[in-house]
Amino acid sequence: MVKTVFGKKHIPLVIGNWKMNPETEVQAQELFTRIHKELGTKGSVSHVAIAAPYVFISSLFKIAKKSRISIASQDAFYEPQGTFTGEISLPMLKGFGVTHVIVGHSERRKNGESDERVQKKTQTVLQSGLTAVVCVGETIRDAHGEYFNTVEAQLRSLCTEIKPSQLSRLVIAYEPIWAISSGDGKGKTATAEDAHEMKLFIQKCIVELFGRSAVSKVRIIYGGSVNSTNAENLIVDGQVDGFLVGGASLKPAEFVKVIRISDSHGK
Ligand code: PEP
Repeated sequence: MVKTVFGKKHIPLVIGNWKMNPETEVQAQELFTRIHKELGTKGSVSHVAIAAPYVFISSLFKIAKKSRISIASQDAFYEPQGTFTGEISLPMLKGFGVTHVIVGHSERRKNGESDERVQKKTQTVLQSGLTAVVCVGETIRDAHGEYFNTVEAQLRSLCTEIKPSQLSRLVIAYEPIWAISSGDGKGKTATAEDAHEMKLFIQKCIVELFGRSAVSKVRIIYGGSVNSTNAENLIVDGQVDGFLVGGASLKPAEFVKVIRISDSHGK
């Protein structure tokens, strides 16, 4: 397991974000099955989840039951039901066996998802008993460290109503937008030092908000062009508690290699 600076250990989480891929249900089933077969069920150390488009969740869950892979959602709405055209609620997702929900992804923030909505969604996910994987991250890395203020403001906002008893189901995904394949800096990856520096900063904010014991409860994972070449360095020197993987999660062999790297350092 990955050690925190305070010496406690976290079970790593590797979560694949398929975004709006693939195109058909059959392709989604094939992709999931290939990942499941390549991964097998032995040697499980990390928690593994795949965030597939909503419309595929039901059929993927049938395959997931035989695998070590949980089903995640890429978003969820904060109201349980009602006049909210196009939204999907937590009770609906729970009913399909979803265990993890990504909240505040930069591709959604870019389209108007505010800090306030991220906070409400995070709170609703935690109240539902599911794990919230909440994305934070700066658009650019400036020379004056302004990016720390950006991340701190996002963190303080999303943590507004979180109770200490909910913290073990809170995962912070540090995703510097300049390092995500859909961001401006296509192809760039944060260094292990970048990731480690931000992990320490996030832990400092969590201590300020919830006290020292909270650090051993909240996992801090990294996302942004993660692949089998950079994962080892990010987990060993970056000391992150796992990964949020976009593009590479659509390539079964590559995604499984990232999981195996996480497994081997998570023991
Ligand atoms: C993401 O969008 O969450 C992500 C990490 O994407 P990628 O791995 O493709 O950069």
